[in-house]
Amino acid sequence: MATQPEVGVSDFVLLDNLTTDKFIENLHLRFQHNKIYTYIGEVLVSVNPYKTLDIYNMQHMAQYRGREMFEVPPHVYAVADACQRVLRQQGRDTCVLISGESGSGKTEASKFIMKYIAANTTQLQREYIDRVKNVLIQSNSILETFGNAKTNRNDNSSRFGKYMDIHFDYKGDPVGGHISNYLLEKSRVVGLQPGERNFHAFYQLLSTNNAYTKKYGLASSAVYKILGSERATAQDSKLYSLTNSAFTALGFQQSVLDDIWSIVAGVILLGELDITETPEGEVEVRGSVSPCASALGVTVEQLRTAMGGRVLAAGGELVSKRHSLSDANYTRLALAKAAYDRLFTWIVAQINKAIEVPRDTYKNTLIGVLDIYGFEIFDTNSFEQFCINYCNEKLQQLFIELVLKQEQEEYAREGIQWTPVQYFNNRVICELVDAPHAGIIAIMDEAALNPTKISDKQLLEAMDKRLNGHKHYTSRQLSPTDKKLKHGVDFRITHYAGDVTYAITGFMDKNKDSLWQDLKRLLHSSSNRSLADMWPEGGDNIQKTSKRPPSAATLFRSSMAALVTGLQSKEPFYVRCIKPNPHQAPNTWDPTLVKHQVAYLGLVENVRVRRAGFACRVRYDRFLKRYKMLSQYTWPNFRAGTDRDAALVLARDLRLQDIHYGHTKLFIRSAKTLHSLEAARAELI
Ligand code: ADP
Ligand code: MG
Repeated sequence: MATQPEVGVSDFVLLDNLTTDKFIENLHLRFQHNKIYTYIGEVLVSVNPYKTLDIYNMQHMAQYRGREMFEVPPHVYAVADACQRVLRQQGRDTCVLISGESGSGKTEASKFIMKYIAANTTQLQREYIDRVKNVLIQSNSILETFGNAKTNRNDNSSRFGKYMDIHFDYKGDPVGGHISNYLLEKSRVVGLQPGERNFHAFYQLLSTNNAYTKKYGLASSAVYKILGSERATAQDSKLYSLTNSAFTALGFQQSVLDDIWSIVAGVILLGELDITETPEGEVEVRGSVSPCASALGVTVEQLRTAMGGRVLAAGGELVSKRHSLSDANYTRLALAKAAYDRLFTWIVAQINKAIEVPRDTYKNTLIGVLDIYGFEIFDTNSFEQFCINYCNEKLQQLFIELVLKQEQEEYAREGIQWTPVQYFNNRVICELVDAPHAGIIAIMDEAALNPTKISDKQLLEAMDKRLNGHKHYTSRQLSPTDKKLKHGVDFRITHYAGDVTYAITGFMDKNKDSLWQDLKRLLHSSSNRSLADMWPEGGDNIQKTSKRPPSAATLFRSSMAALVTGLQSKEPFYVRCIKPNPHQAPNTWDPTLVKHQVAYLGLVENVRVRRAGFACRVRYDRFLKRYKMLSQYTWPNFRAGTDRDAALVLARDLRLQDIHYGHTKLFIRSAKTLHSLEAARAELI
């Protein structure tokens, strides 16, 4: 493999006359030859081939084991290996940040990384390691069943964010892990875009005749409202058995599996409840009431009552309030969404119980793999896209901080000559969203706290007033001639990746994310033990004035802040994924689509900074310690001056090219120079 002729350049740093067009030309040329990976220094650029390439087997893995990135062709395995090496040799925590838009190959990349790490272990304790490896892979398939769906962009799109830590022991072998999940797109449970599917779990359940379909009267051939026009396929049936064996492998009891699939059935059946109004104006619940109640582990009466009205605590008294028809339907859908959302989070928590190891059995080193939603621009963008795109702004900010800014600052600090690279700092957009008291989230939360009900339209008015004049925010009110924006409905954020128009409809409701206390009590009283366990707050005394839970956007902002803080303390590696065409087709290149991604991922700026940069930077004392044996002037000791002087003499004696001398560090421009030093050293020891 290493002897194959190179196609184009395997590292963009080596490109002559760097321009965006040249960059894309090289990417395209390599793509045509199935070379989907290319470096920018240590950043890996990956293009989704949309076809199976024979580059991931055990032999390929072996080629990357313990090799420097520049020694072998670019590959996601090289990133995994570098990551593991930093961890083993320097004892530092590392993380791999995988970014790119939906369908660009992030999740696949994260799976390859996990596979490599799991396979690259010492022979000792093989059996134990195999278990861990198995656990990592099994948990992934469960997460995909419950958290992935077919969208118009990706047949297997992750509809949640995932950050997975893999813990290592003192020998550097993986021993356990922890998964964090972020914001499942729960609105999908009850509302599908044309051509899209609901979460895979629903179709998997319906794909076979099983105990649950029988018990709850479900049929694979039937049409169910929340599942749209899509039907279960043979693939779903295969995956259904895989999901169940994954659950079993992780130690889930059969009774828990019964609970889980019953909830999935219950959610489908909530979609089938038929709520009407009697001539007297009373709400009547018909349709699948009995199987639905049974699937959720409640009585028919309880379910009817919960749909028909609610009980409020007012001034120490309990007052019951009947639902209108629209309230009742709202309640029904809210219940379906909430039940599914909690189920997902609960499953993640159970998986964590199965894969977590006690703190004292692993060293404080871990590899984190972040696979999170890519930037989304749909025809209609709602609260979910707002959160997802905010997440991408935060990660871009981190990338800028770590890769572009730090690198430039270090040169300045060390007195290394170089021309600063211009780049767009997106901090201003992050702040537009999350600034305390002033950002969009703060404005939404204030509106939610208002004692009188604020409509979406009023929220938009408040935003217009407060954000008037912000360079990255506009609406029809602020820009009356902009025909693309609907008055009183749309607002637009100029994101680093482009303009996105959001429809305000549903923002208030989705942000408040509240569920009637009655529904929580209903679920907590379920005879389905797992379901009851998912809703502990349903057991609270209704008279107790409970604190209002934080809004969805605030929770999301906090989880993003925690994520970024965690990532900042680790040595980061980057995989930047690119989608070659919007059709999920192999061998197809859409130049406009690629150009857009290259632009917003800031890849050309990345090459510029890297080019101005160096393959290696190392403190003088460390440099000498490692290489002083290579010259008679520095071995065993250099007597005539500082470490910096010694390094200078050593480099001259060895005729090293293109070395720069900073105040405290020595900078080596090319990886080849570094390589030759290492080779010379290896010969001597
Ligand atoms: P994302 O997570 O970025 O939305 P995925 O990782 O789910 O995208 O990739 C979408 C699809 O593209 C996968 O289901 C797979 O069919 C294909 N794909 C992605 N990466 C590769 C790869 N390296 N080799 C072959 N096919 C791939
Ligand atoms: Mg994904």
